[in-house]
Amino acid sequence: MSYRGRLAPTPTGHLHLGHARTFWIAQERAKVANGSLVLRIEDLDQARCKTQFCQDIYEDLRWFGFDWQEGPDLEPAGAFGPYEQIQRLESYRSVWAELATRLVIYPSPHSRKDVAAAIAAPHEGDREIIFPPHLRPMDWDVTEMPGEINWRFRVPDGEVIEFVDNNVGLCSYTAGEDFGDFLVWRRDDFPSYELAVVADDHAMAISEVVRGEDLLLSTAKQILLYRALDWSVPTFYHCPLVRDARGKRLAKRDQAVALRTLREQGLTPVAIRQSWD
Ligand code: GLU
Repeated sequence: MSYRGRLAPTPTGHLHLGHARTFWIAQERAKVANGSLVLRIEDLDQARCKTQFCQDIYEDLRWFGFDWQEGPDLEPAGAFGPYEQIQRLESYRSVWAELATRLVIYPSPHSRKDVAAAIAAPHEGDREIIFPPHLRPMDWDVTEMPGEINWRFRVPDGEVIEFVDNNVGLCSYTAGEDFGDFLVWRRDDFPSYELAVVADDHAMAISEVVRGEDLLLSTAKQILLYRALDWSVPTFYHCPLVRDARGKRLAKRDQAVALRTLREQGLTPVAIRQSWD
């Protein structure tokens, strides 16, 4: 199987040094493997995503030296499109239907804090809220539709989910302890980040997922989704986070580390990359 990697930015702000570092590793790994790189725009959070940020992302990525073979800005875009998540809602709905048929997800009227957060990828410092197992329903109507109620994936309590990350090595998380029944569909009729990203990585035939290490716990959840759907699991490479002088993960709101600010200040991509060595 040929190597297929992806860059998956969320257009809620400008790209910063942390994105550049992770994406550069993704691009290098695709190059070394003689593979291809997909640009996927993760714009499900319509309240926060902006078209202008998308345009700026293309520009910043190209300025930095990124080059992708498939993506929403290319003509033709590629064989696995569309490459903007907001255009892929139907495919997520069919994944929801498959999970519902397999009885691995259930409708949940209980609205915990994790519901609001579930549309975006979690980041370092986000507290994992474990859904209390006693709130699982005893039975439910399998013909129910998504979109009126939240749906959760029922995790196998006590099972250890292990995977070997290509950078971090052996990782292991216990279902029901490190994470609980997680959201797959929200009552506002949007899929959760976990469902959308697994659906896309599978549909786009991604062979290796390269991303920040704050998503390691998500990987355990995503492996459960792959397994429930009988899909082969890609390999993973989680990169260390870029931190500021105080050790804090870089944030989109911090304009000082945005690629466009650095570019305006006259920094070159080569100089930025050299600072990583
Ligand atoms: N779009 C996500 C983010 O910006 C990345 C998700 C992923 O790589 O799986 O954090």
